[in-house]
Amino acid sequence: MPISVVLFTSDLRVHDHPPLRAAVKGADAVVPLFVRDPAIDGHDDMGPNRAAFLADCLADLDRRLRDRGGRLVVRTGDPVEEARAVAEEADAADVHMAGGVSRYAHARERRLREALEKDGRSLHVHDAVVTALAPGEVTPTGSDHFAVFTPYFRRWSAQEPRAVLAAPRTVRVPDRVRSDSLPDRDDLSDLSPGLARGGEGVGRARWKKWLRAGDDGIDGYEERHDDLAGDVTSKLSPHLHFGTLSVTELVRDARARTGQGAEAFVRQLCWRDFHHQVLAARPRAATADYRTREDRWRSAEAAREDISAWQEGRTGYPIVDAAMRQLLHEGWMHNRGRLLTASFLAKTLYVDWRIGARHFRRLLVDGDVANNQLNWQWVAGTGTDSRPNRVLNPVTQAKRYDPDGSYVRRWVPELAELKGAAIHEPWKLPAKERKRHDYPEPLLELADGLSRFKQARGIE
Ligand code: FAD
Repeated sequence: MPISVVLFTSDLRVHDHPPLRAAVKGADAVVPLFVRDPAIDGHDDMGPNRAAFLADCLADLDRRLRDRGGRLVVRTGDPVEEARAVAEEADAADVHMAGGVSRYAHARERRLREALEKDGRSLHVHDAVVTALAPGEVTPTGSDHFAVFTPYFRRWSAQEPRAVLAAPRTVRVPDRVRSDSLPDRDDLSDLSPGLARGGEGVGRARWKKWLRAGDDGIDGYEERHDDLAGDVTSKLSPHLHFGTLSVTELVRDARARTGQGAEAFVRQLCWRDFHHQVLAARPRAATADYRTREDRWRSAEAAREDISAWQEGRTGYPIVDAAMRQLLHEGWMHNRGRLLTASFLAKTLYVDWRIGARHFRRLLVDGDVANNQLNWQWVAGTGTDSRPNRVLNPVTQAKRYDPDGSYVRRWVPELAELKGAAIHEPWKLPAKERKRHDYPEPLLELADGLSRFKQARGIE
């Protein structure tokens, strides 16, 4: 029987893993391989938070493979060269991997296929590993992808996702293949102090707990997903990003339940597939406007001080500052916080969405090309939002989604003694009282949340 290599990328799990299952079924022995790619590890956008979470994920994957008689082989370098060398060392007949959506992933697949074929080996790319439906599996007439969410959701919902696969019982790995040592979270510095732990074990436990948490979990999701202080969303995004949880398994588990919470949660998972199919079809959308509105953003130089205030959580708008400080502290931010802070930067301060997206990606433990860049574009009005001029007024948002101010009180302790919703508008306090709080004045006055910068350019 032949030997197969399984190249892990954004799918760091043993449960519901089509490439691993296919390899174990078709071969006598398997080499589970992860390549630490300097083009990703060393990239500007790859902050220490994601590196630490990744280290946890790899350690956990190695343990799970060892429990099954195997181990994880880790190499460092160009993934194509390394996979090819490992296939050679193991005398493998083929390599299995999950299909990716970014331009980088597509190029990696193409190069790997060519390199392996030169050596008389083959590459098997498995769909629906990273997403529930493969990009392009449903398309509208006359286009290669959906540009509007609702019709995509309708078609996506009508498809049956593939069956969930059990984890293999045993994984035999040939002894002769050498491995570098696993990366270690303790070697990293500048991590967010409240960063979550990674790994399939943590992810599966969190999912099971959240399913059973009643109104604090999936059952309350429809009602409470926008409650900033309640903080009861699943927090599974880093697990979906690194693939320690399978989105197919989540969709199937959630659909097996009844209730509006489960339905609303599945709809959110569909947003993830939606952005992935947009990026797969339009890889340039990672950096270029998906639909340009001819914005003439303020230059980074002119807006330098505003950008720093936004990044550091001292804009003088408590809800914006609370959310930006949550990001610094946890390497994660509530979705409502992401929406209103992104709108504040792109629409109110009229700063190029790419500057905000880069800051998010450096810090976010779930920082993802598809979800981050395309959500930023959605908010900035250059993406798929059918109302591109929508602006989120931070004060209105604060009163709606943090009505008693608990979320702000948690993250902006300077204002903690202010009672109720008054915390959202500290500039309304008498001057003497304002001075007692070591908190900045607002960066700018709001005209209905709109940007005076943008208005000055006559764009709206
Ligand atoms: P839940 O509310 O529990 O949702 C479950 C899952 O559905 C999430 O884990 C996520 O995988 C998916 N999901 C939910 N909302 C969205 C959405 N709007 N778009 C795509 N997928 C979604 N999500 C990322 O995973 N990575 C990012 O880099 C990222 N950047 C964002 C940047 C901005 C400006 C905005 C507005 C949103 C961004 N999101 C991103 C989407 C969303 O904010 C997060 O997925 C969500 O907050 C994660 O928390 P959760 O796991 O508790 O989500």
